[in-house]
Amino acid sequence: MKPLGPIPAGFAAIDGVLAIGGRPVTEWVEAAGDTPLFLYEAARIHSRVAELRAAMPERLALHYAVKANPFVPLLSLMNGLVDGFDIASGGELAIVTGAGIDPAAVSFAGPGKRDRELEAAIRAGVTLNLESEAEARRALAIGEKLGLTPRLAIRVNPDFDLKGSGMKMGGGAKPFGIDAARVPALVREIVASGAEWRGFHIFAGSQALGAEAIAETQGQAIDLAARLAQESGLPLPHCNLGGGLGIPYFPGDTPVDLALVGERLAGRFERLPGVLQDTAFCIELGRYLVGESGIYLARVIDRKESHGEVFLVTDGGLHHQLAASGNFGTVVRRNYPSAIATRFDAPVEEEASIVGCLCTPLDKLADKGGFPRADVGDLIAVFCAGAYGASASPAHFLGQGPALEMLV
Ligand SMILES: *Cc1c(COP(=O)(O)O)cnc(C)c1O
Repeated sequence: MKPLGPIPAGFAAIDGVLAIGGRPVTEWVEAAGDTPLFLYEAARIHSRVAELRAAMPERLALHYAVKANPFVPLLSLMNGLVDGFDIASGGELAIVTGAGIDPAAVSFAGPGKRDRELEAAIRAGVTLNLESEAEARRALAIGEKLGLTPRLAIRVNPDFDLKGSGMKMGGGAKPFGIDAARVPALVREIVASGAEWRGFHIFAGSQALGAEAIAETQGQAIDLAARLAQESGLPLPHCNLGGGLGIPYFPGDTPVDLALVGERLAGRFERLPGVLQDTAFCIELGRYLVGESGIYLARVIDRKESHGEVFLVTDGGLHHQLAASGNFGTVVRRNYPSAIATRFDAPVEEEASIVGCLCTPLDKLADKGGFPRADVGDLIAVFCAGAYGASASPAHFLGQGPALEMLV
């Protein structure tokens, strides 16, 4: 048997069935009308945000990275909980404005922004996190053409990365951000052009569980912001310190020690250099805020044995849960937390692999896990499905189409 990832704390059964939002998942499936189904639990998001607010210094604002989960009802919930939103495409800009989010609270990062995306952002009053000098000049020219003042920040490619992060996005040659050494000259150019100068965005990595590494990276980001502000000779209005807080997905993973991160950051805020005295700071988080709030449910369509191994064949798969199948940036495939949702409190009875309905050996949601005996009609649940699930998976592969989604 291969180990399964840790199920997030607090899930329980009602009459043997996994419950979410106070009701067994079978009732939600009935309400939704079909499987596969993503269920996102609002109460978990509320408590996650409350924990973060309690642990972090008051001066630190909290932004939500929309790419983790752009489901509109979830964005509307986040709108009442966080201080800002980070988007990474013109498509996400349309989604957030459609969800009624104030564009003044939105910043737009990401390489390869087309002119029409820059124009839509400038018209809306969104802050652009510039990824290159060329992009800065295109934004300034579009602002002039429209007779509008663009709100511009610089994404800095830092000289460090976040240790232990699942996805490194800083340090060395990168398509993201502008190399630190070239930043002060561009700051002066932006300010001289009459644009609204918004500050720095320093993102060094994501999905880290080590609190020491996260705290160290935040300290390095503050030091870098101070140095670049000093060199540009201008006060820094805003500094986005990036994100990086991860969630446990795999056997042996443990949650981030949030108290340690908060204490260290509070310490840093107490001894900020003069040039950062009036700077507004934020962090931007995606999966940490919503990842554990979600479960993915699929129904067992077939139960078969091959060479003595049991396969539970479901109506779901990697077209909705690419990350759980191990094909979204992981080197070695390990099992996400999963369970038989309709036998949630039953003991382990057999070794089984949960697979999807796609005709490829990659389509595996759990490999040789220990489960109660499941049969056709049972529901399986994959946990930690609230981030990088529905929108980060190839829903149209093999003509399958997207899963249903519900916020409860
Ligand atoms: C992806 C991304 C995030 C969110 O990362 P999480 O691991 O979901 O917290 C935040 N900021 C930027 C710039 C990103 O690219």
